[in-house]
Formats: sequence, C-alpha cells, structure tokens
Amino acid sequence: MSLFEYAPAPESRSIVELAPSYGLFIDGEFGEAKDTFKTINPADEQVLAEVALAGPEDVDRAVAAARRAFESWSALPGSERAKYLFRIARILQERSRELAVLESLDNGKPIKESRDVDLPLVAAHFFYYAGWADKLKYAGLGPDPRPLGVAGQVIPWNFPLLMLAWKIAPALATGNTVVLKPAETTPLSALFFADVCRQADLPPGVVNIVTGAGDTGRYLVEHPDVNKVAFTGSTEVGRQIARSVAGTGKKLTLELGGKAANIVFDDAPIDQAVEGIVNGIFFNQGHVCCAGSRLLVQESIASSLLDALKRRMATLRVGDPLDKNTDIGAINSRAQLDRITELSEIGAGEGAERWSPPCELPDRGFWFAPTIFTGVTQAHRIAREEIFGPVLSVLTFRTPAEAVEKANNTPYGLSAGIWSEKGSRILAVADQLRAGVVWANTFNKFDPTSPFGGYKESGYGREGGRHGLEAYLA
Ligand code: NAD
Repeated sequence: MSLFEYAPAPESRSIVELAPSYGLFIDGEFGEAKDTFKTINPADEQVLAEVALAGPEDVDRAVAAARRAFESWSALPGSERAKYLFRIARILQERSRELAVLESLDNGKPIKESRDVDLPLVAAHFFYYAGWADKLKYAGLGPDPRPLGVAGQVIPWNFPLLMLAWKIAPALATGNTVVLKPAETTPLSALFFADVCRQADLPPGVVNIVTGAGDTGRYLVEHPDVNKVAFTGSTEVGRQIARSVAGTGKKLTLELGGKAANIVFDDAPIDQAVEGIVNGIFFNQGHVCCAGSRLLVQESIASSLLDALKRRMATLRVGDPLDKNTDIGAINSRAQLDRITELSEIGAGEGAERWSPPCELPDRGFWFAPTIFTGVTQAHRIAREEIFGPVLSVLTFRTPAEAVEKANNTPYGLSAGIWSEKGSRILAVADQLRAGVVWANTFNKFDPTSPFGGYKESGYGREGGRHGLEAYLA
C-alpha cells in the first residue's frame, strides 16, 4: 500500500497526427506497395495505421535510388553534408514532443523515457556526427577515407528512432546513402523521420525507408548492390545475416543480444545500487540488449540488498505509456510477451524463486509485472538466455574472482555493471570483464561520443563515437 495515490497525468495523444496508411519512402517520395500490414498500439491493441509491406522489387527500387544519390552525396564537401545533418538534428528537436508520443504509441515505452532519453539521444547523435562530416581525415582512419556506397540497415523494435539515428547519422556523415528497414512492430517513427528528411531538403534517395518484416530485411541485406550491412537484433538473425554476407565483400556490423552481469560488491552504496539495478533491468520494460539482466550480488549483503530492491520495486508504476508517471509501459508485442512468459515459467520450473510486487495490470494490451528470480544458478536457462523483458535473475558470489568468473560465464559480451566504493576494485574487475561496455556505479548510460558494441555472440563492430565512423569508411 502506498501512502499517496497519483492522479493520472496523461500526455496528449493529439500531439501526433496519424494518417490511416503509410507508403514506402523511396527516392524522396512516399509510394504504395502491393501488400500492407497493420501496426498496433501494444498498450491497447488498437490499430494505429496500415503500413506498406516492401517486396523484392520495392527493395530493388530503394537500393537503386540510394545508388543514384550516392554519386552526388558522396561528392559533396563534408561541410555541406554537415549542414543537412545539423538541420535534421534541429528539426528532430523541434518535433521531439510529437515524435516521443508517436514512439510511445507504437512501441509501448513510457513517455518519460521516449521524451527524456530516446529523443534527446536521437538529436544528439545527429549533432555529434554532423560535427565529424568535415573532419573525417582527422579520424585516424587514413588521410582520405572513402565512403562505402549504399548501406542496408535493419533495426529492431526496442529503440526504433534511436537505433535509426545510430545507423543513419554516421552513414550520412561519411558520405554513404541508406536504405533502412525498421522493425515490423514499430515502423512509424522511421516513416516520420522520412518526413523530417524532406523537411530538411535532404536530396532524394540519400535516405530510403522500406517497411516490412523479416523477408523485407532479408531482401535488403542480400541485395547485390548493397555495400555495407548494419544489423541490430537477435543473435539468431545476426548469424543468418553473417552467413549470407560472407564472401560477398560487403562490410558488416552486428549488434546482437546480451545477458549482462550487474555486479554489486559489499562496499557498494546500497541505495544507489538499487536504483542502478532497477534502471538496469526495468528501463524500457527490459527490452534492452545491454540490460543488467543478471544481478550478481555479494553474499554478505544479498538479503539486505534484496529487501531494499523489493521495497523499491513495489513503488514502480506499470501502465499507460502516455502517463507521465508511468515507470514500466507495455510489452512491445504478443510474441515478445509469450517469450517472456515462457522463460519465466521455465525459471520457476527449474526451481528459482519468483517474486513480483502486487500490481494491477490493464485488461487490454500486453503487460508483464516487474519480476525477480532468486536462488538462480548458472545452469538455469533464465541465467543464460536473453529474456528481453522486465525479469531479473539474481545470483550470489563470495569473492571478486568468483564474480568475474560468473559474469564472464555467458555466450554474450555486450555490457556489465560494477558497484563498489573502491576505484581500484572497479578498475581491476572491469579489466577482467569480457564486455564491450562496462559501467561503474551507474547503468544504461548512453552518449553519442562513446562507442558501443559487443564481443562473442553479442556481435562485432562499434557504433557511436569516432569508432562508429570506421564501419562506414573504406
Ligand atoms: P529479430 O532479430 O527477429 O528482428 C530484428 C530486425 O531484423 C527486425 O527489423 C526484423 O524484421 C529483421 N529481420 C528478421 N529476420 C531477418 C532476416 N532473416 N534478415 C534480415 N532481417 C531480418 O528480433 P525480434 O524477433 O524482434 O526479437 C527476438 C529476440 O531478439 C528478442 O527476444 C531479443 O532477445 C532479441 N533482440 C535483441 C535486440 C538488440 O537490440 N540486441 C533487439 C531486438 C530483439
């Protein structure tokens, strides 16, 4: 029971004007496709809009448009390309409220996250890479680095607009042109981004958006006239793409799954650690590839830390993504909800102890209460497989060596967190963790200047920062 009840504080839905249907964005124009599909609001299962489903011939047209545009776009001085990118960044800022509402409607994420995290980072990414466009010869990649050509980019549904920014901003800054396919459950913000490109007077064909499901993605990455493939999504699809691209000469970057360890030592500031654990696994409903989904806590403080964590979890508000007080929104799709439900049942079946705070879930839409499993061992599937939902697996350790051993005992290697008061311990442990990103006394912090990417089954290549330029330059 909480002492205070919050009144509803909904952001207005009318800030975003949705058309009944959307076409493909090819060569600067929206056009129809033979087939369509519907995108729904996962919070109430209502249809938001009908969207074109791109077939092979549509992908072909998009790649051809990108190829034509490449000649003049790559020949522009970097300072001219930068102007377009700065313009896009400013328009994204101007339209950020509208885009945040749209993202929350199509994805289910809480408005306070789309408004305060996704959109500011999206604009920051374009600003950052705009700054690189005329300085590429000073990036440490040789005196005259050249763009690759046409980039085929496929992105997932967890951060639709942010993943678009991570892909498109460095590609354009370096003089490449783009065909991007958003995920089938979250196509709308990419289509609104197409409108931003038009508003910025970006030359036709520099950015093309083809909507559709896995098949559309496959046509794009397998297209013979694509020079560079960038993919973010599941390890399974990443593997297929790596196989299909092998031997073609296409440059490939893969950003795949994760099962990050969030390690809390006995000298950690407990209240801050609890906030970091909550942010690590419940941010974006846990639909985060770098989520801190395995909590490794030192045995001597495990029981007091878990008590504090449960108290904190009981205050999380689950519900309407457009309510400004909501902490945990809707699960993005029924398929994802089924996967989270199944893995959680497996966790309980394997003997781990399941706990969720009392919380009322809406009747319609896709919802999952924040959940922790204690008594998890390394053999449990919930300690090994990516659940991609608001579900935390808790393991304990006794010594730093055991913490490192357990943290690295995963096929993934995307991120990790360390909580300790001692800087020397943080540095010593970070040094031994096989993860692309290691956060210390914080979690899930992103910045366009900082490279992001994984080891092992989390993929290869880096996005963000100076390193992110390398993926788009020869
Ligand atoms: P997915 O890998 O199937 O989809 C990601 C994107 O790839 C989508 O745009 C999809 O349409 C496209 N795609 C699917 N098959 C393709 C193919 N053969 N060739 C080219 N593109 C293809 O991911 P999902 O089904 O949305 O989610 C499944 C699991 O993947 C999740 O449960 C989660 O564990 C993981 N996931 C990870 C991330 C991440 O950021 N690392 C993001 C989303 C999902």
